[in-house]
Amino acid sequence: MILQFYGATERVTGSCHILRVNGCTLLLDCGLIQGSAEDEALNRKPFPFDPSSIHAVVLTHGHIDHSGRLPLLVKQGFTGPVYTHQATVDLCRVLLLDSASLAERDAEYRRKHPVTKADHHAEPLYTRDDALQALTTMIGFPYGEKQEILPGITIRFRDAGHILGSALVEVWLKEGEDAKKLVFSGDVGQYGTPILKDPETIEEADAVILESTYGDRLHRELPLTIAEIGEIIKAASQRNGNILIPAFAIGRSQELLCIFGHYYEEWGLDEWQIFLDSPMAIEASAIYLDYPELYNREAVAFRNDKSIMPHLKNLHFTPRPEQSKAINAIKSGAIIIAGSGMCNGGRILHHLKHNIERPECSLIMTGFQAEGTLGRSLVNRQKEVEIHGRNYQVKAALHTIGGLSAHGDQNDLLRWISGFLNNPDIFVVHGDVPVKKIFRDAIEEHLGLKVTIPESGDVISLNS
Ligand SMILES: [Zn+2]
Ligand SMILES: [Zn+2]
Repeated sequence: MILQFYGATERVTGSCHILRVNGCTLLLDCGLIQGSAEDEALNRKPFPFDPSSIHAVVLTHGHIDHSGRLPLLVKQGFTGPVYTHQATVDLCRVLLLDSASLAERDAEYRRKHPVTKADHHAEPLYTRDDALQALTTMIGFPYGEKQEILPGITIRFRDAGHILGSALVEVWLKEGEDAKKLVFSGDVGQYGTPILKDPETIEEADAVILESTYGDRLHRELPLTIAEIGEIIKAASQRNGNILIPAFAIGRSQELLCIFGHYYEEWGLDEWQIFLDSPMAIEASAIYLDYPELYNREAVAFRNDKSIMPHLKNLHFTPRPEQSKAINAIKSGAIIIAGSGMCNGGRILHHLKHNIERPECSLIMTGFQAEGTLGRSLVNRQKEVEIHGRNYQVKAALHTIGGLSAHGDQNDLLRWISGFLNNPDIFVVHGDVPVKKIFRDAIEEHLGLKVTIPESGDVISLNS
């Protein structure tokens, strides 16, 4: 029984690990590396294993940093099944096709406007056809059912509370007389979020592979965050401008709409027109609506309460480009939710161009903004920003909202690990290097567990 760490060891993205048991090889996640151009170039490097030698993949959730290299794996010879939650299959249809479309458009642009010699022959990392092929390999399971997927390897998905369909994976391994249990966290959600259930408690494991994205910090509490959004909206309505909310298509957008539904009257939202201006967020919202059984109790009650349902009657979905452009004519009373969440592309850029120089408008930043993105410049309160080659003065009121993260903070992660009753070994991955060290110290101090920070390529024997 061998566990080998490949991706998301030096950084947050590119989740990928391997299990070898009874001559079978199982891949845990197959994520895309995201970040700077140099980081992303790593996606083109050959896999550190032969894709045709992998017997099956277990996918924790749809986010591209966990699923985004699956089309490449299939293209390069993987022919086995990909086991995941059914909602993840649905979300991957949206996410992987979008990722392929972006790659195709990017390659075409580089061929048309070459900067280097290589640009003349730029090829996408994978195409929409490759993504479609990868989707045919996916098999969806519900939470809570044990499945033997390979000889000696049985898995069960538990709710990770991170995005719809996100799973904590329990893996039971049997090799001869030796039996072990591994748990792979994927990404762990916050407790008490508006739509999804809390991360499920797992009581037993010999080893846990644990994410650590926010292992070094605490989020602002959600009720305070929601109150803050309410205050911003009330203040904005006095000023007669628009409100822009750059948001991630999956999870954040749906949570915002859910919060708006809850506080519709209290916040005077009937004065506003609300636009969900993102084709991907609209598709993802439809998928969220397909899985009410995955909602927490409050969200189910909210959905079932017919007296509440007429709320958000002023919500407009604007999938088509001309519908999106029409929003530009609105000078006040519009709440516009559009991607991308970090303002490094997408329709939000057009809305920023039309609103950012107007002091009566407001901008609400709701998520993590990576170094080098326009969103980061805005959050850093840069007075002037460049959009599509032109400089704009930032005059709109800017608000940064913590607390809506899809990832648990240090307390959430410690709470989840404290559910294990038999002192498993912890392997911390999926975090920036300094964060992982702080998180390791916190686990050792609070829970006294043995913590390892593996490096890429490290091999661990799970045999006793
Ligand atoms: Zn994720
Ligand atoms: Zn992740």
